[in-house]
Amino acid sequence: MARATDADAAPDGDGEELEMLRDSLRRFVADELAPRAAEWEDAGTLPRAVFERLGELGFLGMGLAPEHGGGGRDFRYTAVLVEELVRCGAVGVAVSVLVHAEFATKVIDRAGSPGLRAEILPDAIAGRRIGALGVTEPGAGSDVGAIRTRAVRDGDEYVIDGAKTFITNAPICDFVTLAVRTGGSGPRGVSLLVVPADAPGLTRGRRLRKIGTHASDTGELSFDGCRVPARCLLGEEGAGFRLIMEGFRGERLVLALICCAQMRLMWEEARRYGLEREAFGRPLLGFQSWQHRLADSLTTIEAAGALTGRALELYVAGRACDREVSMAKLFAAESATAVAHDCAQIFGGYGYMEESLIARLVRDSMAFSIGAGTSEVMREIVAREAGLVPAGERL
Ligand SMILES: Cc1cc2nc3c(=O)[nH]c(=O)nc-3n(C[C@H](O)[C@H](O)[C@H](O)COP(=O)(O)OP(=O)(O)OC[C@H]3O[C@@H](n4cnc5c(N)ncnc54)[C@H](O)[C@@H]3O)c2cc1C
Repeated sequence: MARATDADAAPDGDGEELEMLRDSLRRFVADELAPRAAEWEDAGTLPRAVFERLGELGFLGMGLAPEHGGGGRDFRYTAVLVEELVRCGAVGVAVSVLVHAEFATKVIDRAGSPGLRAEILPDAIAGRRIGALGVTEPGAGSDVGAIRTRAVRDGDEYVIDGAKTFITNAPICDFVTLAVRTGGSGPRGVSLLVVPADAPGLTRGRRLRKIGTHASDTGELSFDGCRVPARCLLGEEGAGFRLIMEGFRGERLVLALICCAQMRLMWEEARRYGLEREAFGRPLLGFQSWQHRLADSLTTIEAAGALTGRALELYVAGRACDREVSMAKLFAAESATAVAHDCAQIFGGYGYMEESLIARLVRDSMAFSIGAGTSEVMREIVAREAGLVPAGERL
């Protein structure tokens, strides 16, 4: 069988354990997720039971603290989870699960007080409580330092007023890791609070209909005199921007890994169809133009995989990796839409039909040059890290 991936090879060290994890995830995804992925896409949401099942199997807290039920493993384990979840054929499933397990929860493990960690992490790891990460607002997305949702200390509580939008899991979450302004303007005034979804004054707004990743439920949240105990603060007041930026590294790696995994899936689909479907008396892959086009796609996929693998290696080793992570996310996300187009084209009319897997993957591919930092923001970081920005021009 053709190999469309380099990420299947585990790095040294825990190779055997990683392969066992991959095997069990692959079976689970094939048996329990793939058969129902289309149903969840149509419903526009992922059932709570999926989180609970993932929790029961130990897949949700692999990178989290063992004292609260986590696995204490490094990010390579999360990478395997990401790659295998995508194989269910609905990228929204991976998005929803990873936003919960990685984006919303990991920072609680890293910066929450012992009491808050004990309160949230066991249920989050078990999939009994679902998390969302609320940073983006109607008036501020890329410019995280410009958020306006305000939290004012009132005795032992914070009182929150403001609004968030485009929040993955907002319609189904039990808690939201929320970026708020506790201080003056700019990044230094930003803090992170963990807000239970049933906190008085928190209202779920509209569910948002998206172009793709339908199985991940996305919506708005609004806060009107919403009160949470002061112990829900992560780290110290004013530490939020730094915590968000640190979290972005893992989040961007997750998205780069998703893009690589979905490109492999598209490519395998295109190859399968190209060998099966005949035109003018021969399989489509009998035409050199298609052999070359899929060879180009495979080259792009391998390049994205190599860049992402390198960023993963540095991240796991705890080394500086903003440049590599941003390059990986930028290249993988932009490649995903290009590869999706090429892979869909071989399906002719079938590739344009809603019911086809390839059409779903085309739609899904569009999210990743936006979420967790747009491609333009990735270029900004690469330019900065590569010394391309003159000192007087830095933002
Ligand atoms: C499917 C999906 C899921 C999401 N899930 C979440 C979530 O769970 N939680 C959450 O908080 N947010 C989430 N988001 C929001 C996402 O993080 C933001 O959409 C993103 O950060 C961009 O912000 P914006 O939409 O406000 O665009 P803007 O920041 O207004 O940007 C508009 C355009 O201007 C460009 N631009 C901005 N700054 C610069 C610059 N300095 N130089 C050049 N160009 C620039 C951008 O690249 C973009 O092309 C999600 C978004 C999507 C699409």
